[in-house]
Amino acid sequence: MIVARPGTQQTSVDLVLLGPPGAGKGTQAKRLSATYGIPQISTGDMLREAVAAGTALGDLAHRHISRGEYVPDDVIVKLVEERLRQSDCNSGCLLDGFPRTFSQAVALDEMLQKMGRRLIAAICLDTGPDVAVERNAHRRSCPVCGRSYHQKAYPPKVSGTCDDCRVALVHRDDDQENVIRYRLAVYAEQTLPLVEYYRTAGLLRVVNGDRSADEVARQVGVVVDEALRGDESR
Ligand code: ADP
Repeated sequence: MIVARPGTQQTSVDLVLLGPPGAGKGTQAKRLSATYGIPQISTGDMLREAVAAGTALGDLAHRHISRGEYVPDDVIVKLVEERLRQSDCNSGCLLDGFPRTFSQAVALDEMLQKMGRRLIAAICLDTGPDVAVERNAHRRSCPVCGRSYHQKAYPPKVSGTCDDCRVALVHRDDDQENVIRYRLAVYAEQTLPLVEYYRTAGLLRVVNGDRSADEVARQVGVVVDEALRGDESR
């Protein structure tokens, strides 16, 4: 559990997880969140909650998500700004699926700066398109807790049912193959440039996301620990 690091002004641990749909961001974010005691902020999960609740935000989000498009930056930035102000984020947060555009990345830097904080790392789960398509095609998600299963590699204990919530798993509309291919193209065009953005900022850590979830988690743990040590010595 991280609360403060000696020798630094900064007491928060803020991390970004980057990677195409199917890279395993959600899976790794949940593990990191448990290991380091910081909340996972998944903009995808937040939007899906709004869709399920039938709010105005949900209606707007659904129109974009079902087509595989990004939700407009101003809407997403406001959502994350509000979430970051909640007290459970005081020690940091794990951003899963945000930022996804250059303007979101700049907005995040500004938000953290206003709070006297800065990112300690942006971890990119580097995953090839074939692996991403295969994982999304077999992904089944819990509509309650957002946990993802892979029908073959990481199936639930009882077929089609979330181990934790005991509700029926769903195949998301945006995980259908034609939508996935479009989402990968959107990722390449709008999100991939953030890899360079974070490389230039000295924050980028790349992990091979094609491996098993346990192996990726091991590598992610190594780079987060390195980033924490690097942050202490700054
Ligand atoms: P995955 O985990 O497969 O990458 P997410 O669950 O993170 O997908 O996101 C699902 C969808 O929600 C995205 O395809 C997009 O439409 C919308 N979304 C999530 N986060 C953002 C964001 N930061 N900016 C714009 N749209 C977003």
